[in-house]
Amino acid sequence: MLYAMDEEIHAGDFDAWLRGMIASLRGDEGTEVPCGSCVGCCVSSYHIPLRPEDRAALARIPASALVDAPGLPAGHAMMGYGPDGHCPMFDGTGCTIYPHRPQTCRDYDCRIFAAAGIMAGGPEKRVINERVEAWRFRYADADACRRHAAIRATAAFIRDRWQAFPGLCAPTAPTGIAVLALKSHQVFLDPAHEELADEERARAILQANRDFGRPVADDLPGGAGGPQSSPCETSPSASLGSNQVDLGGIT
Ligand code: SF4
Repeated sequence: MLYAMDEEIHAGDFDAWLRGMIASLRGDEGTEVPCGSCVGCCVSSYHIPLRPEDRAALARIPASALVDAPGLPAGHAMMGYGPDGHCPMFDGTGCTIYPHRPQTCRDYDCRIFAAAGIMAGGPEKRVINERVEAWRFRYADADACRRHAAIRATAAFIRDRWQAFPGLCAPTAPTGIAVLALKSHQVFLDPAHEELADEERARAILQANRDFGRPVADDLPGGAGGPQSSPCETSPSASLGSNQVDLGGIT
């Protein structure tokens, strides 16, 4: 259950975080994640995608730790993890290539799960799940609370009503669910959604995802803009395994 732990960690202002995350998903800028001493994503059985642009990381990661990234052009690679779920670059206390870590590691922000009201995964994600439970956003006003509630409602719909999506194309991995909920939560901000059948809501979510690049989120301070795509039409994210990290690749 969310928010059941005693420990609380400030996640920052919700709207400021949402603006930054949307910009990050559009590839406009990275997010600043207050990881502190947490190394959850380094010990949680994640496959880490590496892009050709990750030259500094690729130069330091042993070839034995890398495999070709399935379905992606040459130059893309994937780093696995050990039997203990630890990244090969993790030495027990921290990242041994931290200044040169892959962009995926820089982009990973587990507050997206807190925003969506879902866990990062099963027991292998225990460390991250504890962090997700501890995050606490601040809200500037009632509209910010409404936006957060809409994201959580959208994520719950995608997770629980996946059969309503045409071709059963809804993402099933937590990362895919959370990202799609962020990108399409305007559907649940509109009171008219209550009149829609599940199949119509699912189509509206997919359309909102396609419209993600247009300034449709005018109710969000800071506006909107970015690439267009659908998890059904173009993105491998819809089938991302629960152990693959790629917040930036889900567009
Ligand atoms: S490369 Fe470094 S930051 Fe990225 S998962 Fe591995 S240990 Fe963590």
